[in-house]
Amino acid sequence: MTQKIALVTGAARGIGLATTKLFIEEGWQVAMVDRDGDELAIAVDGLDEAKPFVYDVSIPEQVTEMIAAVKGAFGRIDAVVNNAGVADFGPIEETDFARWRRVMETNLDGVFLVSQAAIPSLKETKGALLNIASISGLRASTLRVAYGTSKAAVIQLTKQQAAELGEYGIRANCVCPGPVRTKLAMAVHSQEIIDAYHDAIPLNRYGSEREIAEVIVFLCSERASYVTGQVVASDGGFDSTGVGLP
Ligand code: NAD
Repeated sequence: MTQKIALVTGAARGIGLATTKLFIEEGWQVAMVDRDGDELAIAVDGLDEAKPFVYDVSIPEQVTEMIAAVKGAFGRIDAVVNNAGVADFGPIEETDFARWRRVMETNLDGVFLVSQAAIPSLKETKGALLNIASISGLRASTLRVAYGTSKAAVIQLTKQQAAELGEYGIRANCVCPGPVRTKLAMAVHSQEIIDAYHDAIPLNRYGSEREIAEVIVFLCSERASYVTGQVVASDGGFDSTGVGLP
């Protein structure tokens, strides 16, 4: 059987690295993309079924080059996981345009650019797009004007992709993680926010990178062959409660 190839962005650490490892456990090979070359070199060390690609997903020329490099190295792309993201906690009046753009460039433009560049390859394989949004894209909060808006847009972009690309056999789905103790989250989660999440989440805890990766890999796999256009929260039940984001 042909070995499947997943392209995972933001793969140097956190949810992207856990996703890479799970794909490999399930027999895939992985193109690990990240703009942090040092961290990526450490992450890929010992992963025989993965190759590193140092690119920034928010820069159009780099994305074109990156897809060509991945295609050159592996010959095909069966799934693209748009996971690279940056966090930002700030209210509207404190979010200047440069800060707004910094968030949109990676969280939204990056998903658009990588997905668009990968479409010709995904048409060949009838592959899958998997975009990482967030519970912050499902709920408003007083602190996440740029981050929450970028993630809500990723949810809609996923639905657009599913509607448009279904005729080529390409599926597009979106995962909305709840809080996970990664570098991204812990840079912005105060003790107060951590305690509030513990209280508000029905499972009363943060998720693990692996728990998010399980959903991502499932949705990219043949096991989800009739699932497209879906938004799946992997959040310990948080979104079902109606409680506001801390
Ligand atoms: P992380 O900071 O641990 O990892 C993100 C990776 O993306 C880093 O290695 C970083 O170098 C890379 N990256 C950032 N911008 C990039 C760019 N422009 N080009 C290439 N690489 C880039 O973060 P994480 O928590 O694992 O987050 C992964 C995804 O999950 C993000 O989209 C994030 O918004 C989302 N998410 C995380 C949480 C959480 O609580 N951790 C919750 C909801 C959603």
